[in-house]
Amino acid sequence: MKVVLQNLSKAFPSRNKRVNADVIAVRDFNFEIPDGKLIGLLGPSGCGKSTALNLICGLLTPTGGRIFFGDDDVTDLPPENRGVGLVFQNYALYPHLTVRQNILFPLQNLKGEDRLSKADMLARAHEVAGLVQIGELMDRRPSELSGGQQQRVAIARALVKMPRILLLDEPLSNLDARLRLQTREEIRRIQRQTQITTVFVTHDQEEAMSISDIIVVMRSGVVEQIGKPQDVYDSPVNLFVAKFLGTPPINVFIGKVDGGTLFIGEDAVLDIKGISDREVYVGIRPEGFVLDSGGPLCCNLSRVEVMGRDVSIVSSHDASANPTIRSIINAESAVDFTSANVRFTVKPDKVFLFSRETEDRIFFEV
Ligand code: ATP
Repeated sequence: MKVVLQNLSKAFPSRNKRVNADVIAVRDFNFEIPDGKLIGLLGPSGCGKSTALNLICGLLTPTGGRIFFGDDDVTDLPPENRGVGLVFQNYALYPHLTVRQNILFPLQNLKGEDRLSKADMLARAHEVAGLVQIGELMDRRPSELSGGQQQRVAIARALVKMPRILLLDEPLSNLDARLRLQTREEIRRIQRQTQITTVFVTHDQEEAMSISDIIVVMRSGVVEQIGKPQDVYDSPVNLFVAKFLGTPPINVFIGKVDGGTLFIGEDAVLDIKGISDREVYVGIRPEGFVLDSGGPLCCNLSRVEVMGRDVSIVSSHDASANPTIRSIINAESAVDFTSANVRFTVKPDKVFLFSRETEDRIFFEV
């Protein structure tokens, strides 16, 4: 089931008498979530991710725009009639009920034509329990489960009504690092198996990149960029998106274009075409540096961190916007640990230029 958001907006009234402006949590969203895909809504805290999700499920009423599930306009439908499954960060299981009873609960509330026989309900509950691999835990209570298991029960409970859309709001936040990784792979598997159109909200770019077919990067209620994770990483539209995606993060320098040459400080790092002389921000991905004793970019070497397959060279440069520069180099490349400086050439496809005024991307050729 595809989901279409059309000029969707949500404003909350200001509670501050001195500041009269409303808080625009979601501003004019226009995009389509294709049928059967998993999209990651991604952005820093307070950017409007949960508001967008709550608009889709119907817990919030938009101040403008429409929401379609397939061809149905669901904007005015209450949440219980939208056919959505919801999973939150805190699993919100009923503590006094067993896993089986927790999963059965949404089915027991079905009314009229949708009502199922007891045998059908049990069959459905066991089917989804098998899907999320908790079949052997059906008689336990939530307090007897690990966090990861509780979250799987919550997912099973959301799936049991066979929702048209599955909405997950930071579902992994309460799990430790290892369980997070495992559970996100589980979510991906379940989503692929069920083919339910899924919206996954997270502030963790790595999580969103690894799990999503499409990511929607948001800032202050505005969609900054939508695309396949790799495409957005490889071609960010502005400095915000470039900085938000990637670990270690992109390195940002103050630079200038002068006579077809890109300078970082006094270092002439690249010959480029198509840009008139101007000051720019230069973003270089950590993997965009090549160790080269004759290279133009000369940085002060701080230390080298060995990471097994790769090494991370930590250095600094007067024109760097951050205190440190991190470059990831193949471990087989020889780094002279004792030298005060380290020199690099840069890979043109890992270098992005941004306007100093708007921070929008400036495209160049080499
Ligand atoms: P987080 O990752 O921290 O959960 P988020 O991206 O999900 O953040 P939202 O919870 O959607 O962000 O909030 C977006 C903005 O709307 C914030 O500025 C928040 O303070 C504001 N906001 C959310 N709910 C309300 C409300 N009921 N009344 C007033 N303002 C609200």
